[in-house]
Amino acid sequence: DTLLSIRELNVGYLNPGPTVRAVRDVSLDVREGELLGLAGESGCGKSTLAFAVTRLLDPPGAVLGGSVRLAEHDLLGLSPEELRRVRWKEFSLVFQASMNVLNPVLKVREQVYDAMQAHGVTNRQQLDARARELFDLVGIQASYLDAYPHQLSGGMKQRVVIAIALALEPKLIVMDEPTTALDVVVQRQILQEINDVRRRLGISIIFITHDLSLLVEMSDRVAIMYAGEVVELAPAHQLYAHP
Ligand code: ADP
Ligand code: ADP
Repeated sequence: DTLLSIRELNVGYLNPGPTVRAVRDVSLDVREGELLGLAGESGCGKSTLAFAVTRLLDPPGAVLGGSVRLAEHDLLGLSPEELRRVRWKEFSLVFQASMNVLNPVLKVREQVYDAMQAHGVTNRQQLDARARELFDLVGIQASYLDAYPHQLSGGMKQRVVIAIALALEPKLIVMDEPTTALDVVVQRQILQEINDVRRRLGISIIFITHDLSLLVEMSDRVAIMYAGEVVELAPAHQLYAHP
């Protein structure tokens, strides 16, 4: 079944100069539980699409046209209040700089607990058990729960952010180059772990990277953008069958 349905999405940036049309007439469905890879060269509009879909792109000047539906929600039509409610429950975004949004003065544990408390889990034992489970899923030792962010490496911090995104239990996680700052071995490892969790929890993921080979290996389907448009959409194993 379809979870996310993007129709005729258009996003432009109203610069002092001519409007940059960053996303052009994009229509795309993401199925329940699917890992959809999104690739394309730098500047082709991947991040703009990610931010538009998660409604974290509302800088003055960004104009949206078209529709984005997630389950029963019309995402582009939501008021800021509705958006705030839906966001945590239904979808979240992890991007390259997400590790920087960790609060430097709070232990990692508190930040993971906050995400779970947003879902009404308040029992300390349950919080602890669930936090350990999540850390196990993303490949971090539970002892790091009591670390402060600055005591962790970049890869660890990004894993923590992914654990927090999972703790929010959304239906969809959009990951925009979440591991690009990390070395290739760590990237692959994290993506494998994300893929495991996705299968277990039935979460849909849009995974954005310029590394096409990584996507072909990990995704169910791969979409390729060029100059703001989706120019290719195919099951990962069929991608190289095209001329
Ligand atoms: P990608 O993620 O594929 O690298 P982006 O979505 O970041 O692509 O960028 C798509 C296009 O939109 C590019 O031409 C980029 O220069 C332009 N762009 C991105 N952000 C802004 C912005 N805040 N203001 C104006 N133009 C932007
Ligand atoms: P607020 O307007 O609530 O003070 P912000 O303007 O910083 O907060 O962000 C808008 C909303 O988006 C907030 O509810 C915030 O928690 C949420 N948010 C920010 N980043 C993400 C993310 N990566 N995934 C999901 N929700 C996010």
